Amino acid sequence: MIDLHTHHDRCGHAHGDLEAYVRAALRLGLTTLGASDHAPLLLEGAGDEPAPGMHMPASAFDGYLAEAADLRARHADRLDVLIGVEADHLAGREAAYGRLLADQRLDYVLGAVHYVDGYHVYDRARWEAGIDVDAAYARYLELVREAAGSGLFDVMAHIDAMKARAPRPPRAPEREWDVTVEALRAADVAVEVNTSGLRKCGEPFPAWGLIERLHEAGVPLTFGSDAHDPGEVHHAWTEIRAGLLARGIGELALWHGRVRSLVTLEALPTRR
Ligand SMILES: [Zn+2]
Ligand SMILES: [Zn+2]
Repeated sequence: MIDLHTHHDRCGHAHGDLEAYVRAALRLGLTTLGASDHAPLLLEGAGDEPAPGMHMPASAFDGYLAEAADLRARHADRLDVLIGVEADHLAGREAAYGRLLADQRLDYVLGAVHYVDGYHVYDRARWEAGIDVDAAYARYLELVREAAGSGLFDVMAHIDAMKARAPRPPRAPEREWDVTVEALRAADVAVEVNTSGLRKCGEPFPAWGLIERLHEAGVPLTFGSDAHDPGEVHHAWTEIRAGLLARGIGELALWHGRVRSLVTLEALPTRR
């Protein structure tokens, strides 16, 4: 039982400290918990906290890694705490992220596109401003491909998240998805099945049809709740596990020291 996408209070919008998420994982009997709070936002020329309440401050990063390592050591007999981070893809800032993410203490890095042409991916104001849904979605997928190709990330987070707040389901042409799946495969990144999609719009990120296409293309998958509250840790695992097995998907990826390995779903028991 694994969950590789969890936040905590350092980012300023998740509830509970890191230890509360570790306690939740222990209570649920997880074997692996990935801590992956929002990495500092490295805007050009920005200070310690350019987007308060969205990302951990740059000055908090070192303390985060130290606390995660301490929790891993303290609970090593029962739980494997992976030290991760969810980092943004910001075009032109790859070198700065490269320096931050080269920290040897990191087990894995989730790559995320949260900002598209000045709007946060979940910002409804984009749609109120009259931006075309399909064009914005195509632009978002272009950024997902760019992020995957940057070489900075082990796994791409919530790759169709823009659908969640769109006024109608966006329609990406099939070709657009073909190109995106191929880009993910060529970049040798994994993709997470993220259950915050179920909480936000009633279907996982990515949608099941895409999960099938990614699997057919040989893109490894992993699982993350995107918990922003300890009560969300491992959310909807049983449903996702059953859906994966029904589609012949029997393995999930995890990482130690940026090296990917696979665990079999059959070995991961059902819970919740
Ligand atoms: Zn968040
Ligand atoms: Zn995210």
